Amino acid sequence: ERRSLVVGNWKMHGSRAANAGLLAGLRAAEPYACEVGVCAPFPYLADCVEALRGTSIGTGAQDCSVHEQGAYTGEVSAAMLADVGCRYVIVGHSERRAYHAESDQLVALKARAALGHGLVPIVCVGETLAEREAGETEAVVRRQLGAVIDLLGADLVRIVVAYEPVWAIGTGRTATPEQAQAVHAAMRAQLREAASSAQGVRILYGGSVKPDNAASLFAQPDIDGGLIGGASLKAADFIAICRAA
Ligand code: 13P
Repeated sequence: ERRSLVVGNWKMHGSRAANAGLLAGLRAAEPYACEVGVCAPFPYLADCVEALRGTSIGTGAQDCSVHEQGAYTGEVSAAMLADVGCRYVIVGHSERRAYHAESDQLVALKARAALGHGLVPIVCVGETLAEREAGETEAVVRRQLGAVIDLLGADLVRIVVAYEPVWAIGTGRTATPEQAQAVHAAMRAQLREAASSAQGVRILYGGSVKPDNAASLFAQPDIDGGLIGGASLKAADFIAICRAA
């Protein structure tokens, strides 16, 4: 049985004052039936961990380095994230792939670095609109997930996957539950082929999830929760999405 998970990805939003209000709102809404996480910008992670102490809500980062330590100016290691109390780290978000040219192989190395420090990597995959229109959705997602499967081996069971069609991110144009379920089912089969124990890997959907469409997405058999961008910045919306999971 896979426990539902809803994670907020704040992206490059927030301030100490805004975060404090948002986190107080999330705290006040406890308990949650599902597992809940928030992925904040690096400067706020330690504050976030502190604000959520004693709650069931976990803190996560939005990226990590593949390196353990060293002369890598501007990078943040998985060890540092674990050290400040993070539970999750997003790797391979489409915005990183697009604006920082992150390859499938690099993303897999980031997932491995995260696992090496006891973090749960949330590995993002998803096709662009051009790829969907060319009928390449399943091939693209299979290639992206395949790189992670090949590198991780038995550790695969410890990851979370997020399917985020690029055309649905921040556009208000969400995948239909049926479109998302089809891709999730294909990924579930790919995971199962790699390792029977990988059946327990949670596959989240991300891309314009809102309070009014969350329940129908989460009702799909292979959608185990969500990765929420814009709607995670308003406590009432994020809480409503968590309640739908
Ligand atoms: P939106 O929910 O704003 O579409 O963002 C989705 C996303 O990219 C989460 O990682």
